Amino acid sequence: MKIFILFALVVCVCLPVSAAYGLAGKSLIFSRKTANSYVRLYQSSHSSLSAFTVCLRAASEKPHGYGLFSYATPHSDNELLIWTKSGGISVYLSKRIIRFCVPKMNALLRHICVTWKSKTGLVTLWVNGERSVEKFDKGTKIVRGGGSFILGQEQDSVGGGFNRHQSFVGEITDVHMWDHVLSACQIKSLSEGISPARGNIIDWTTIKFQLRGAVTIKNDNECTSQISIQRPWFKEWEGTD
Ligand code: CA
Repeated sequence: MKIFILFALVVCVCLPVSAAYGLAGKSLIFSRKTANSYVRLYQSSHSSLSAFTVCLRAASEKPHGYGLFSYATPHSDNELLIWTKSGGISVYLSKRIIRFCVPKMNALLRHICVTWKSKTGLVTLWVNGERSVEKFDKGTKIVRGGGSFILGQEQDSVGGGFNRHQSFVGEITDVHMWDHVLSACQIKSLSEGISPARGNIIDWTTIKFQLRGAVTIKNDNECTSQISIQRPWFKEWEGTD
């Protein structure tokens, strides 16, 4: 019996965690602070970006600072980081930080989008379809490709450097990323769940992902995911700048 248990332990330790595909209609639940629970998203390969839109839904009742969306490259562990603390939401673009003062997170899922375009330097935060004041960041030219997308932890190195005190505790779902800026109407429709447009870099419905540690996948019970399945003709919105 001892040999069998030892063999089982060795197999568990040595075998890589297999990847899975697609999270349509699903939420990720991070129930407590840890330094080793996260979900890695394997996006469609992309080169450097001169614009992007990142959207997600999240809820958390914890007041500590944590990353909602962490993208690290060998050049910068904060190549693109959406960070929140009680005082608002900050967007990190490598070494530059753009802060937005918004109501603190709570138990209600909110739809959050960030848009950026190098050409104009405009960085905009959207909460439940409402636009923030627009802020300028003329210092960032590109967001580099070839990095690591992580949910649940804030990377201080590519795929690692986690700190349990910066780990996300709550629910996150519906994560999408585009290589261009969506219009105000598109973001409003996404927030209301009447558009099932899907990201062309990260598409929550088909994304390849790998789950580590204490993360639970559950049905999101959102009307939005049901609309997405029922109204595929809205796909024509994808790719619009
Ligand atoms: Ca970091």
